[in-house]
Amino acid sequence: MPIHAYAASGPDAPFEPFEYEPGPLGYGEVEVAVEYCGICHSDLSMKKNDWGMTQYPFVGGHEVAGRVAELGEGVEGLEVGQRVGVGWNSASCLRCDQCLSGYQNRCPDAEATIVGRHGGFADRVRAQAAWVIAIPDEVELVDCGPLFCGGLTVFNPFVENDIRPTDRVAVVGIGGLGHMAIGFAKAWGCEVTAFSTSPDKEAEAREMGAHHFRNSRDASQLAAAAGSFDMILVAVNVALDWDAYIAALRPGGKLHLVGAAEKVSATVFPLIMRQKSIGASPTGGIVTARKMVEFCARHAIKPTIEEFPMSEINAAFEHLESGKARYRIVLAAG
Ligand SMILES: [Zn+2]
Ligand SMILES: [Zn+2]
Repeated sequence: MPIHAYAASGPDAPFEPFEYEPGPLGYGEVEVAVEYCGICHSDLSMKKNDWGMTQYPFVGGHEVAGRVAELGEGVEGLEVGQRVGVGWNSASCLRCDQCLSGYQNRCPDAEATIVGRHGGFADRVRAQAAWVIAIPDEVELVDCGPLFCGGLTVFNPFVENDIRPTDRVAVVGIGGLGHMAIGFAKAWGCEVTAFSTSPDKEAEAREMGAHHFRNSRDASQLAAAAGSFDMILVAVNVALDWDAYIAALRPGGKLHLVGAAEKVSATVFPLIMRQKSIGASPTGGIVTARKMVEFCARHAIKPTIEEFPMSEINAAFEHLESGKARYRIVLAAG
C-alpha cells in the first residue's frame, strides 16, 4: 500500500499530495499511522534546504503522534493500535558507545526522520522500534506531537545539567520551544524567569508557570539579574549579549543553547573565575523521551497548539513563517 504524503518538489515549491511505495516493513521497524504531526522550525529549514542536506521531493514532519499500524519482524514491547510518538530521530545503530550509554541522539549513524527519507506529513511513517515512544493514557494525542521534537529538546537540558528543584532557571524566548521549557521548569520545582522581547507575553508567561518576567530588550533588567541563575536556557536563534547573560548566571551556572544562533562570542575570564559554562544539545535520547512523556502525564504539561488539517499544510507553513504561531502548529491527518 502506498503512503500518502505531502511533498515539496523544491525549496520554494508548495507542498502537494505525493504517494510513495515504502516497500516491505524491515526487521525491527514499526509503521505508525499518523494522527497528528507537529510542524517544527526544522521542517521549514529542511524544506528550504538551509542546511544543504535536503532531498526533493521533500516530505517533512518529525513530531508524529499516532498509533502502531504494523510491527516488523522481531519487534517486541509494542502492540498494534498502541498510541505512540516519533520525533527527530527515527533510528540509530544501538551498538555504539553513544547508543549504549543512553545517548542514542548522539549516535554518529543516527537517522533523522526527515533527512534522506520521508517523514510524518503523511498517513503513515516508519521508525526503528526503539525510537517509537509509547504515549501514556493521560496525554492527548493532539497535544503530544510537539513534545517529541520541541519538547524533548528543552526537556533534555534539565536532565543533562542535573537541574534541581531548588535551582533558578531562566528561559530566553517564549516561542515554540520556550513555552514548553517554562512548563517543564515550573513542574521541575524551579524558580522560573522568562525573558522575552515582547512585553505583551508577560501574562501568558506567568500563566505557563514563570514566576518572573523580564524584557530582554531592556539591558537594565538583565543587569539586575546578575548572579541569579543556575541555568539559562536559550530557546531563540539570534545573537544575544552573551556576556550579559553569562553575568546573570550563578557561579557554576550553565548557559545552555537549544536555538541555533550562528555564533557565540563570550569573554572567557568570567567563565573561568566563576566556573560558568556554555553548552548545547540536540533533542534527547530514547529514555529521556520516555521520561519526558511520563513527566508530562504526571504534571499535565502540554504545548499550546494551533491545529490545521494536514490538507492545509501550506497555510500552516505560511502561519509558521509569519511568526504568529502560538506556539506550536499541529497538523491533523485526514
Ligand atoms: Zn524539530
Ligand atoms: Zn549508535
